[in-house]
Amino acid sequence: DLTGKIALITGSTSGIGLGIAEHFAKAGATIAVNGFGTAEEITYVVENLSAYKGNQARFFPADLMDGEAAITLVNQVVNHFGKIDVLINNAGIQHVEKVEDFPADRWESIISLNLSSAFYTSKAAVPHMRRSGYGRILNIASAHGLVASPFKSAYVAAKHGVVGFTKSLGLELAEEENICVNAICPGYVRTPLVDMQIKDQAKVHNMTEEEVIREVILAAQPNKRFVTVEEVADLALYLCKDATRSFNGAALPIEGGWTAR
Ligand code: NAD
Repeated sequence: DLTGKIALITGSTSGIGLGIAEHFAKAGATIAVNGFGTAEEITYVVENLSAYKGNQARFFPADLMDGEAAITLVNQVVNHFGKIDVLINNAGIQHVEKVEDFPADRWESIISLNLSSAFYTSKAAVPHMRRSGYGRILNIASAHGLVASPFKSAYVAAKHGVVGFTKSLGLELAEEENICVNAICPGYVRTPLVDMQIKDQAKVHNMTEEEVIREVILAAQPNKRFVTVEEVADLALYLCKDATRSFNGAALPIEGGWTAR
């Protein structure tokens, strides 16, 4: 039960972040929403989340490619709600291309958003968590934080970086009674990010989209199905319980056996 808890979920206007936001709101948490979207989309998300008991979700705009904006985001959440209990670093992007054609600005953007933003938000949130004595930082890494695939150099580098950052920060906070930092490493989840990637993969592999799903995407996952947003959200919620405070600095795979190979 997360009643009374404040959860900032980056990139919660879509996909996995939105699913986690709904799951946490149902569990009683108040959600600080962040991410891109039209004014209409954002209003819809905030109103939906606020329909759950005790929830007064609120939107905090920030482009997390900018480190200063990431720090300001956390400070705004704390100024508004008085604290931050849960920080979920979820916002992320992908680019699929061979390294010699990979645009340098895409590399920089992916490292900034998928890796560095977790440093900046954590840096700002940790002092508040130390003060209140409870805190959960969950980094939505990826199976690609543990193993690699070709044509995803920036993404794989950033996600391995997030797993390393999670370990280091977990050790720094290990002596705190109830503050934990963990990474969740999902396999493929059918979100807008993956739908775009299926199109890109079709180009680099010269396949149809159906072939990409069967022979590239789900070929990696021994269970041959997509992970669901609900499965990821459930694991995230589990890691916020007092009873799971011995999970720290871990990178937890949820990928149908992909990284067991
Ligand atoms: P998505 O595209 O559906 O959602 C991404 C979210 O991030 C959106 O809310 C978007 O507005 C936000 N965002 C994008 N750029 C931003 C920026 N500069 N500043 C702030 N917010 C920004 O993607 P998703 O599939 O839900 O992915 C969420 C996370 O899960 C990512 O970190 C992704 O790498 C990771 N992940 C996804 C999968 C998958 O198969 N979908 C698998 C493993 C890990």
